[in-house]
Amino acid sequence: MKTIVVTGGAGFLGSHLCEYLLKKGNYVICVDNFFTGNKDNILHLICNKHFEILRHDITEPLFIHCDEIYNLACPASPVHYQHNPIKTMKASVLGMMNMLGMARRNNAKILQASTSEVYGNPLEHPQKETYWGNVNTLGPRACYDEGKRAAETLMMDYHRHNGIDIRIVRIFNTYGPHMAINDGRVVSNFITQALKGQPITIYGDGQQTRSFCYVNDLIEGIFRMMNQDQTIGPINLGNPKEFTIKELAEMVVRMTNSQSPIEFKELPQDDPIRRQPDISLANHHLFWQPTVNVEEGLKQTIEYFKKIL
Ligand code: NAD
Ligand code: UDP
Repeated sequence: MKTIVVTGGAGFLGSHLCEYLLKKGNYVICVDNFFTGNKDNILHLICNKHFEILRHDITEPLFIHCDEIYNLACPASPVHYQHNPIKTMKASVLGMMNMLGMARRNNAKILQASTSEVYGNPLEHPQKETYWGNVNTLGPRACYDEGKRAAETLMMDYHRHNGIDIRIVRIFNTYGPHMAINDGRVVSNFITQALKGQPITIYGDGQQTRSFCYVNDLIEGIFRMMNQDQTIGPINLGNPKEFTIKELAEMVVRMTNSQSPIEFKELPQDDPIRRQPDISLANHHLFWQPTVNVEEGLKQTIEYFKKIL
């Protein structure tokens, strides 16, 4: 039985990953400071004797004996990561160093949850892993984008200089059950607004695009990445089907039978105009591609929000 540390394990993606790894027969230690994470997300795992929770902030050093580390601890929604930008940078950089230190002392394998934000407002479309990105170092998104870019650099340097066994995945917009009601990202915002009959808030004219991946597909991709030796990455994980934000709003209104009007608000600074992953590498090395289409994924997510609202 492997002992696996999942940082950010009480968050949206982390809670699904903990459950998945337990099902695969591992001993799982969830490390979280509960900034955006929620005990409700992992309540159903607490009775499992192979599951532990540790309240800890990864900006502080940590040592736990383990075989693998999945490093997901970092607020991911623009609203939350901009709430305390210095803390966000620390979570990405100091947190990454602490987790790499723990990997080194344990001789453990470590996977970093990187992001499509390393491409910034991309000038190349769709985005391949070879693209170096177009990030404003000075803007409000930089604490997250540059933090995640520095974390990738640390991963590569620890790999080259200390021989750490690393994996990097660049995750594109993912959605599903366990997103927090107050998360602030587009899918959870639109669904909660539609279910409550409140105006659907489209930022800008809604012509900006994103590509939405259902959480179960993403978790499968992350797991496959950790459990193969062909590549250390970085590898894009996401659904290549691209939507405008306006199309997403209309789809959510239709699927919830909502009377909510659409309200246009100001586009936040540096909001990327287009985003779509090229997943050829994931396809080639992991034999991975999303299997859940957006209608089906939204249906599951709407059911979840109906239950918790
Ligand atoms: P989330 O906010 O739901 O989860 C993040 C978790 O990390 C929370 O449980 C939070 O409490 C915890 N955390 C934050 N700072 C911490 C710290 N300093 N120490 C310990 N725990 C801390 O977000 P998510 O969507 O589940 O994202 C998980 C990871 O995946 C993040 O690293 C994010 O950057 C990355 N990612 C997610 C997406 C996506 O679409 N969901 C896309 C790209 C990258
Ligand atoms: N967005 C929106 N309304 C909302 C929340 C987000 O129109 O209530 C837009 C946002 O401006 C961006 C896209 O939806 O263009 C995706 O935003 P999100 O915060 O989910 O993730 P991002 O990809 O920007 O990190």
